[in-house]
Amino acid sequence: MRVAVFSSKPHDKEFLGPAAARFGHELTFLEPRLTSETVQLARGYAGVCVFVNDRLDANVIEQLAAHGTKFIALRCAGFNNVDLPAAQKCGIAVVRVPAYSPHAVAEHAVALIMALNRNIHRAYNRVREGNFALHGLMGFDMHGRTVGVVGTGKIGAIVAKILNGFDCRILAYDVQQNPDCLAAGATYVELPTLLEQSDIISLHCPLLPSTRHLINSSTIATMKRGVMIINTSRGAVVDTSAVIAGLKSGQIGHLGLDVYEEESDYFFEDLSDTVIADDQLARLMTFPNVLVTGHQAFFTADALTSIAQTTLQNLSDLEANGVSANQVGR
Ligand code: NAD
Repeated sequence: MRVAVFSSKPHDKEFLGPAAARFGHELTFLEPRLTSETVQLARGYAGVCVFVNDRLDANVIEQLAAHGTKFIALRCAGFNNVDLPAAQKCGIAVVRVPAYSPHAVAEHAVALIMALNRNIHRAYNRVREGNFALHGLMGFDMHGRTVGVVGTGKIGAIVAKILNGFDCRILAYDVQQNPDCLAAGATYVELPTLLEQSDIISLHCPLLPSTRHLINSSTIATMKRGVMIINTSRGAVVDTSAVIAGLKSGQIGHLGLDVYEEESDYFFEDLSDTVIADDQLARLMTFPNVLVTGHQAFFTADALTSIAQTTLQNLSDLEANGVSANQVGR
């Protein structure tokens, strides 16, 4: 199948390119994001392969269908950026990679927790300047601390398992319980209880109407003073203005973000020569107790190998049978 790969980066070529030959797919790597301005580039391609910040709204999907595209292959797990009813209406099948390495994301969430707790980001810069003073670097023992895991699917359950190794008390909230999370020693509670009792809150739920701005000024007000919030799920699960206010008042003690509400204009690009026009993003990066990474939680060689394999298999299944086990919105 001829496939246009949007938002492609060198690592996409490195992992998808050689694997595509084995599957017999012909890939064209395109750097632009897929939007209504760039959709013309997909003309004549049966498949398009997209990532988290491509925008597949109804308008883009209708144009894809008109150009002969039949398959959309997301090389990620989340599919909140695709208008699924529009795809269904246009007869375009949408596939995703439901699990590539939940370990990669869970381990990054724990890396953010530990870096913020022990001020590794500040210590790294400090010692390079010959400053070996300890003031401002004090952390806390993880042992015995209460961690709230919101969303206990594949990633959340692994976070619980890792934190169990630190001897943390783990509270969990989800619309359905996961036995793996219970086996990791977590106790399921209602969301308000989790928010009130946790020293650290780590978000692992998908972005849905029910989870948009789940962290907002009202919920932040119910948390422990000095709480640490970690978001590796999707940016809009957190209301950015509310967390900035919480950081300014001291209600939030640490914030670790791998995702950001308005990340699509910034993340995955080298903008070091330009001015960041987004005042909220710029403000976040001024706090010493905030650590932002640019949607890199998934970014391990193991995950990229798995993403390439599943994406290409999904396209082969659609081409051969018209259906795939990893289809969404059917
Ligand atoms: P998953 O589907 O295995 O688990 C998601 C869990 O969230 C499920 O158990 C589901 O029941 C639960 N959930 C649904 N609605 C909820 C609600 N209202 N409140 C609480 N929980 C709710 O998904 P996963 O593989 O664990 O991934 C979780 C999220 O992580 C994805 O949706 C994606 O947004 C994000 N993600 C981020 C990266 C990254 O690089 N930062 C990479 C992969 C996934």
